[in-house]
Amino acid sequence: MNLPTALAPIADGIHAWIPDVSGSWGYANCLLIASDTQAALVDTPYDGQMTRTLLAAAAAVLPAGARVETIVNTHANGDHCFGNSHFPDAQIISTQASLDHLCTEPDPGQMHHLTHNTPADEPLGWYMRRHFGHYQYHGIQLAPPTLTFTGHHQFTVGATRVELTEVGPAHTMGDLIVHLPDHGVVCAGDIVFIGDHPAHWQGPLSGVIAACDTILRLEPQTVIPGHGPIVGIAGLLGYRQYLHDLEGAIHDGYTRGHSAQETAEQLVRAGFYAHLGLEERLMITTAMEHRHLDGDNSAPDLVALANRAATWAFHRHHAHVPAPASLPAAS
Ligand SMILES: [Zn+2]
Repeated sequence: MNLPTALAPIADGIHAWIPDVSGSWGYANCLLIASDTQAALVDTPYDGQMTRTLLAAAAAVLPAGARVETIVNTHANGDHCFGNSHFPDAQIISTQASLDHLCTEPDPGQMHHLTHNTPADEPLGWYMRRHFGHYQYHGIQLAPPTLTFTGHHQFTVGATRVELTEVGPAHTMGDLIVHLPDHGVVCAGDIVFIGDHPAHWQGPLSGVIAACDTILRLEPQTVIPGHGPIVGIAGLLGYRQYLHDLEGAIHDGYTRGHSAQETAEQLVRAGFYAHLGLEERLMITTAMEHRHLDGDNSAPDLVALANRAATWAFHRHHAHVPAPASLPAAS
């Protein structure tokens, strides 16, 4: 794992940890906010080794005597909160919806099982080992939010104002964005992916687009995506256009009677935003959008969704031929 050992300076007292590993899962960005002797961290890394690396990098820039007293989790996916237990005294803030839906997320024990005990020669086992096998899930203790909110919540870190806005359901049920109005910075969580196709587990895509519009209205100079390099307004607008194009293609296919799989296959074959990594994630987002179009509001089976992506990637990788006609059901 090639992790950054230094934080990127964003503004006075604001630093970001940007692994920026495209074509991979789990390398999420984190934002350190420090002022006077106080500090807060937006999102925690996926496993212990990553969190220790981040902590060492943070120690180099934290003011003397400052320690992280507040964690903000932008949503409940493990790559944004499995490191929480490394901050045992910290208040952990997230939306009430994130806490309510924590039970639908694979926990560290399930991730260990999926990366170790599934058949390695079948799509899901192969894919999980390939993209998640290098993380150490064994022994990770979940540390759920200790303070939740709906709508808006604000607090200060020293002299720095921190404003949280709930924007879910979008990427997940309980997404929030973090705005630092004194610095022109927004931390977007997985509302925004840069460099790879996003996997949106909840949707609908109109919800993700609306969340992008909420960010745009804040007119930030700097947007920290959940994954990938930092962007400005132009980068955010480009990503919003991607979502708009994807939504249009999916709805068009649905109207024509195409299945989610047919639409996703067509998009890949037509080179839809082909410069982005992880094309198999189109299988997930397309399946989720179809559930909304079908009026299906039941909780999605995230492992079944991942299996759709895995099956596509497995066949593309091993045979260099189109994926088989039938993928596992989404739920
Ligand atoms: Zn993520």
